Amino acid sequence: MYYLQCGHCAGYSALKSEYVTFCDHCGKKLKHTYADWKAHHPEGTFAAFEQTAGIPEAVYEKAVNRRPHWLLRLRHKAALITVLVVLICCSALGAWYGPSLVKMFRRASVPESMVHTTQWRTFRGNVIRVQTPLSLSPAARSDEPGRRIKRFEGGGASDGLEIRMEETVFLSSAQIDRNESARDVLTGLGREKGVSGFTFREQPLEVGADTAMWQQGSFILDHATAMEFQQLVMVRGGSRVQLLVCHQGNDENGRKVAEAIIRSARMN
Ligand SMILES: [Zn+2]
Repeated sequence: MYYLQCGHCAGYSALKSEYVTFCDHCGKKLKHTYADWKAHHPEGTFAAFEQTAGIPEAVYEKAVNRRPHWLLRLRHKAALITVLVVLICCSALGAWYGPSLVKMFRRASVPESMVHTTQWRTFRGNVIRVQTPLSLSPAARSDEPGRRIKRFEGGGASDGLEIRMEETVFLSSAQIDRNESARDVLTGLGREKGVSGFTFREQPLEVGADTAMWQQGSFILDHATAMEFQQLVMVRGGSRVQLLVCHQGNDENGRKVAEAIIRSARMN
C-alpha cells in the first residue's frame, strides 16, 4: 500500500484507489491526485503514479512512528494556554479599569486646529464678552433665593474642551467683593458632582481696565479622568461672572486654548 501526504495537515491517506482525492484527516484536497497527475501523464498508469507521488508502506510506517505527536499537541496546547492567559488578563484589566478606560477613550483632547484663533468668534454675555472657538448657548437656569443666575455652555467631552460662563446677579447687594466671590466660585467647583482631588492656584489678572481673579487647577472627574481647568472670576457691582474652561489633564493644546479664552475676556 502507498500513501499520500496532505499538504494542509501533513496527515497520511492510504492510496486505496485511483479516486483518492481528499485527505482522510482534514478533508481538504490532496496535493497529488491520480486524476491531476494523469492529465499531465496521459500514458501513465496508476502504478506509475503510486511510485511517483505515493509514499511506500515502509516509509509511511517510519514516518508515523517518528511523528512527534506529543510535541505537536504540546505546541497546540501552548498556543491555547497563551490565548487563555491573554483573555484572562484582558478581562481582569477590563474589570478593574474598564469604566475608567472607556471614559478616557471617550474624552478627546483639543485638536491643534483649535489653537489657531482666526476661526474664533466673540460671545457676548450680559457682563463680559469673550473670544471662543466653540459657540456658547444658554443652559439650565437655576434661580436661587436672592440671586438670578444665567448660564451659557459650549463644547463637551468630544471637543476636548468644555466652556461655561455663569452670570450671577446678587439682587440685594449693590457691590460684591471680588476675592470673596472668587473663593465662593472655586468652592462651588470643588464640590461639583464627580469632582475629587481638587487643587488650584489663583492670581489677579488685568482684564482691560478691570482686574479679575484667574484660577488654574486640576481635579479628577468620576474617579477616572485627570482634568485641568482655568477660570476667571470678574465682578461688577452686584454681578459676578465666572468663566470656566475645562480640558483633559496634560493636554498642551487644551492649556493654550483655555488660556487664550481666559485672556480674551473683557467687560462690556
Ligand atoms: Zn489533511
